[in-house]
Amino acid sequence: MNVPLLDLKAQYRTIEVKIENAIREVLRSQHFIMGPNVTRFEAEIAEYSEVKHAIGVASGSDALLVALMAIGVGPGDEVIVPPYTFFATAGSVARLGARPVFVDILEKTYNIDPALIEAAVTEKTKALIPVHLFGQCADMDAIMKIASKHDLYVIEDAAQSIGSRYKGRAAGSIGQMGCMSFFPSKNLGGFGDGGMITTDDNELAEKARVLRVHGAKPKYFNQVIGVNSRLDALQAAILSVKLARLDEWSMARRRNAAFYDKEFKGTSIGIPFVESYNESIFNQYVINVDQRDELMAYLKEKGIGCEVYYPLSIHRQECFRYLEYEEEAFPVTNRCAERSLAIPVYPELTDHQLRFVSRAILDFYA
Ligand SMILES: *Cc1c(COP(=O)(O)O)cnc(C)c1O
Repeated sequence: MNVPLLDLKAQYRTIEVKIENAIREVLRSQHFIMGPNVTRFEAEIAEYSEVKHAIGVASGSDALLVALMAIGVGPGDEVIVPPYTFFATAGSVARLGARPVFVDILEKTYNIDPALIEAAVTEKTKALIPVHLFGQCADMDAIMKIASKHDLYVIEDAAQSIGSRYKGRAAGSIGQMGCMSFFPSKNLGGFGDGGMITTDDNELAEKARVLRVHGAKPKYFNQVIGVNSRLDALQAAILSVKLARLDEWSMARRRNAAFYDKEFKGTSIGIPFVESYNESIFNQYVINVDQRDELMAYLKEKGIGCEVYYPLSIHRQECFRYLEYEEEAFPVTNRCAERSLAIPVYPELTDHQLRFVSRAILDFYA
């Protein structure tokens, strides 16, 4: 049997007609940049994420970049980020000439450890970017408390967590700004790149809106230097169709996760820990295991897709050598990089496939 890590074709089959109609409408309108589809989808995301404003941009990475630009991050500033995340979280900081300052994660949730944040705060610290990794929110109450004590902005990297909840609140609605990604493999994935900034702050929303169109306001009159980063009308139309199904898909992911939890309970296979006050959307179902690489080879041989997120922590990346972090500076991050493995959890998995995957993993350790 073949069980890919993610099967986007299975999902597409269930929405094909609606998507094709939405695409055709955009094609007939020949309106590709901004316009009614983008405005409508922004309103839908704002409502879904319980914020006043949502600003479409070209990718999740650009959402981070534009959000950091909106709060004025630049050379001389420091921004605290976890080293266990997708590259863009730290890359966006460095791209603006600021310094990413890494703070280790909690092994049980893979999210930034709030107890370690204050030791990393200096007079140069301008912002914190907690990442809601694999679909579960970081401990936002603790993070917001530290941020307000030291007068720091909080930008939530919610690229993997749209629809996830922290103590009942929507991911991306808690910090000053939230950043989302519509990369195809995210829970709400487009047919290409796309991203969104969420915020309740009128002023930051306005800044982000101006920054994404080169900093022009009105058109052709630039008071600031922005970037060209907009969400395509085609992507907005597609994503709008998919957003209507998102909660149903998240529920299916949670159901699949619960199946694995039950199967792996009482074994040496470490299952994802979700805080009782959190609601995860399981962008990934990540197990924590001995002999990870051997297991991965075994599963791939059986036709089961799996992936390591992330094999090389950000502080160990060649491009960040100038930051002069010791390899061993973040022991929890390094341990997770050695032990974590994402297995298929996508909504369309059949019971048969789920059992095949869990059986294979249990057999490996039997
Ligand atoms: C995917 C991702 C991003 C970047 O999003 P893109 O749309 O691929 O640019 C940023 N942060 C995290 C945690 C992500 O998973």
